[in-house]
Amino acid sequence: MISVIIIFPSIFPSPLDCPYLVTGRPPSSVSVPAPEIGGDGSSFKDYGLGDADPEVHNIISKEKQRQFRSLELIASENFTSRAVMEAVGSCLTNKYSEGLPGKRYYGGNEHIDELETLCQQRALQAFHLDEQKWGVNVQPLSGSPANFEVYTAILKPHDRIMGLDLPHGGHLSHGFMTPKRRVSGTSIYFESMPYRLDESTGLVDYDMLEKTAILFRPKLIIAGASAYPRDFDYPCMRKIADSVGGFLMMDMAHISGLVAASVVADPFEYCDIVTTTTHKSLRGPRGGMIFYKKDPVLGVDLETAINNAVFPGLQGGPHNHTIGGLAVCLKYAQSPEFKAYQNNVVSNCRALASRLVELGYKLVSGGSDNHLVLVDLRPLGVDGARVEKILDMASITLNKNSVPGDKSALVPGGIRIGSPAMATRGFTKKEFVATADFIHEGVQITIEATKLAPKAKLQEFLKFVASPDFPLRDRISDLQRRVETLTTQFPLPGL
Ligand SMILES: *Cc1c(COP(=O)(O)O)cnc(C)c1O
Repeated sequence: MISVIIIFPSIFPSPLDCPYLVTGRPPSSVSVPAPEIGGDGSSFKDYGLGDADPEVHNIISKEKQRQFRSLELIASENFTSRAVMEAVGSCLTNKYSEGLPGKRYYGGNEHIDELETLCQQRALQAFHLDEQKWGVNVQPLSGSPANFEVYTAILKPHDRIMGLDLPHGGHLSHGFMTPKRRVSGTSIYFESMPYRLDESTGLVDYDMLEKTAILFRPKLIIAGASAYPRDFDYPCMRKIADSVGGFLMMDMAHISGLVAASVVADPFEYCDIVTTTTHKSLRGPRGGMIFYKKDPVLGVDLETAINNAVFPGLQGGPHNHTIGGLAVCLKYAQSPEFKAYQNNVVSNCRALASRLVELGYKLVSGGSDNHLVLVDLRPLGVDGARVEKILDMASITLNKNSVPGDKSALVPGGIRIGSPAMATRGFTKKEFVATADFIHEGVQITIEATKLAPKAKLQEFLKFVASPDFPLRDRISDLQRRVETLTTQFPLPGL
């Protein structure tokens, strides 16, 4: 911690009869009088971004155009609101406030305390939690740090954990290693054993989880996923965790918006700890939260352990601008409008899924109960990487994804498609049916392109389709034109 004390002269006269600092900008609502001692009242110039840095300004403009024109189907992305962006771009970014409300290591935190307390209250309300039973830490910088903070709180180095295997839809931060390398930090500092899907059904293999847990005796079992189209069976996972004397945590990063709107099962009924990102279906700023039971679990005071793991364990000063944006998001998450939005997310996803099934596609688990579908492209003889590239060229943004049974992680056999982002822009079932048809066109083009370059390795294929004499260019441009004609009819929040 830095312990420099800055003594500021508090001898300013009334701000009203003083000139403003010369900043190159109109005065803000907070007026600054010229000091009576020192300086000439113009210590800096405060240009807007366009004047201060045209290069960065231009990149942001281009990115805004891309977001506006493209059909955004990445399941972990969303468009946050103008109000959230205003809070995130505010003076809250200037303040250090290590510690928790009322217990800070710096002065000047009365407003930050009010903000963080409000954010905590809204977080508990948004997820329908009794503040006697649940507490929340809103300081995690993002989802992965939030998870590592939980592990730091309740585990000792080399304690055992079980999470859904990454190639089966899990997240890196739940542990991942290859025969050669411990890839995730979670697997470096703790011993991770994955559970998986039953490849015949595409559903979590709870029997295998139970059998393995009895042998492995994990101290922590993690529910939650990044690419799983179904709900988790929390009562079953609770039973398994209890039978081995372990904690049960849900990482609801992808579905926290759906949980807040009660359109999927409630993990809080069965879990000891619930973590989440705040920028996915929840539609907030980029950040994370950790919810914990207030009563001790397995002899551990989770509140103290988790708060200490966040700070001073792993983080320093909280990102107060993010906490400001999060508070705004959590107010909105309690509105009827938000509930209607989350219902649209799910019904749009179902419309997309049924259209894809109609078109003959194989979906992992056969459909979807939430905001995403996983398409298994292997029966068509194409892979997710090639399809992702062709769709990207047509302004359709989604990601390649491994599907159960995949051999290669670099050239996975599927794609993941999510509905939250376009539902935010106002897409209804009708537009999601059209989206399925666009994707189908892109897949057909990919199949033809693969035939034109039958032996090409992935890198060669990507070069081939990007070259000016790629024969299917016009087909892709035509698809792109129709995609953008649709997307540009729907507003982008904050534009
Ligand atoms: C996205 C995600 C995270 C991590 O989020 P970051 O903010 O990218 O660190 C953690 N867990 C799950 C299940 C996720 O989907």
